[in-house]
Amino acid sequence: MLDLENIKAGQLEKGFLSPKLGYPVKLPYFVLKGSQPGPSLLVTAGVHGAEYASVEAAYQVAKLDPKKLKGTVIILPIINTPAFTSRSIYINPVDRKNLNRLFPGMEDGTFGEKLVYWLTEEFIAKADAYVDLHGGDMIEALEPFTIYQSGHAASHELAKAFGIELLVASDSEIMSFAAGARKDIPSILAEASGQGLWPHAEVERLRLGVERCLIHLGMLEGTLEPKPYKDLTEFAWLRSEHEGLWYPYVIAGDKVAKGQLVGEVKSFLGETLQQAVSPIEGIVLFSVSSLAMNADDPLLGIGA
Ligand SMILES: [Zn+2]
Repeated sequence: MLDLENIKAGQLEKGFLSPKLGYPVKLPYFVLKGSQPGPSLLVTAGVHGAEYASVEAAYQVAKLDPKKLKGTVIILPIINTPAFTSRSIYINPVDRKNLNRLFPGMEDGTFGEKLVYWLTEEFIAKADAYVDLHGGDMIEALEPFTIYQSGHAASHELAKAFGIELLVASDSEIMSFAAGARKDIPSILAEASGQGLWPHAEVERLRLGVERCLIHLGMLEGTLEPKPYKDLTEFAWLRSEHEGLWYPYVIAGDKVAKGQLVGEVKSFLGETLQQAVSPIEGIVLFSVSSLAMNADDPLLGIGA
């Protein structure tokens, strides 16, 4: 476990954590201990192992000078190390579960459930604020957005501070930010980039968002230029009913009308199996970009 007391003020400490999860892991960590006392911010990335812009942004945040900080920033840049090393999308390869559907985890569960429980109890519960960095997965194109727990005002404020325009209020109880909000800790999940890419501009968007959160929390000097934001209260996910080929007719960022045909799933013989129709008027937040499609996999998500 991390022994924060023994880290000197104004110092960076880094290393590996090996919690007992029934499967060997070495999770990298960075602790930036400010030169003055203050709140603590937890930054995680790589809950989904192939969302590379989020992982690299976490490494960039770790380059902050701790001497400029009040309080402590804890960075866990690759939570799902088995997924990262195996380039696995959505799931971790040990128990084949999606970590961001397992919060707050289970002490006596499978590997993923134990990992999430450990993260929740050892890190999220002890933080004063929590930022979980994500993006579109290896096969997803994405319009940047930030999710937070619906009705949790401090999380909404943190989401506004992060600076991405589209803010999605979610009722999920099984995602990372929900575990934080349940403990009344301002918590957000910010998404940028996708398709296995990690362009500088998108990495910088996420790094800058964390920096803006630090200013918002009074942990870093600076003025927070307010950024425009749009509150979205609906997030409709369309899923494939079939294995086959996916033909999207819209891309991330497109505006769509209620009832609009947004894509089709076709059989391996080229016949239409499913017409995907938008149930709401809104904006495409993510869209699967792989031609290959599995039954029950997401096709795209629309926010409104
Ligand atoms: Zn993700």
